[in-house]
Amino acid sequence: MNELAAQIVALQVIDQEIDLVEDEISQVQTELDQRIEALAEREQHIDYLTTTIDELEKERRTLDDEMVDKIAHVKERQAKMMQVQTSREQTALLKEIEDAKKNVKENEEKIVSIMEQSETLSAELKSEKNLLKGEQTLAEEEKDTVKKSIEKLNRKKRTRKNKRDKQAESLPAATLQKYEVLRKRRNGLAIVNVVQGVCQGCFMNLPPQQFNLLLRGDKILECPSCQRLLYHQPIEH
Ligand SMILES: [Zn+2]
Repeated sequence: MNELAAQIVALQVIDQEIDLVEDEISQVQTELDQRIEALAEREQHIDYLTTTIDELEKERRTLDDEMVDKIAHVKERQAKMMQVQTSREQTALLKEIEDAKKNVKENEEKIVSIMEQSETLSAELKSEKNLLKGEQTLAEEEKDTVKKSIEKLNRKKRTRKNKRDKQAESLPAATLQKYEVLRKRRNGLAIVNVVQGVCQGCFMNLPPQQFNLLLRGDKILECPSCQRLLYHQPIEH
């Protein structure tokens, strides 16, 4: 292999190791972020349940107050029965009493229904609060673990970075710049092997003339399709 190509390949190996460490850091961070996000969602649901239960309670108290008036109204109509003279008046009053009783019954049913809803939601609220407490404890523990593992990964990254800087110094400035641009534009792969005349970056065939040049190994070539730098290293079987 061309000597300079070998130096670039060595640099790329270190850079790929750094990429892996960076991926690991962001994966660990993302997992923690998702856990914290899930906590926030549960907290929101708890707020929603609390508000809904409060509103139901308010509505129930209003209905309770109305109940007193409605019952009083039935009693008052019933008392009036004593003073009624004609049967027409009696029929009309009986109808009024029936309506008033119906009104009381409807009110009662509304109260029961609200109490049932409120009980269901309260049970859910209790279980949500318990879950939240457990999740909060876990998240706190995980924050510590994540912090430690990110610190460890950053140390690993620094070691690789030092190695990388040393390796980069051994390259001519123009080559290094070209390599860095290619790595950015070509998905982290700036220099690739050519196997049986095929570029291992874009998998296009190299023109035979250029492949022969590459085999001679006296200079670094570029792939005519993807512009990556090329080297030739026979694959051992
Ligand atoms: Zn290519």
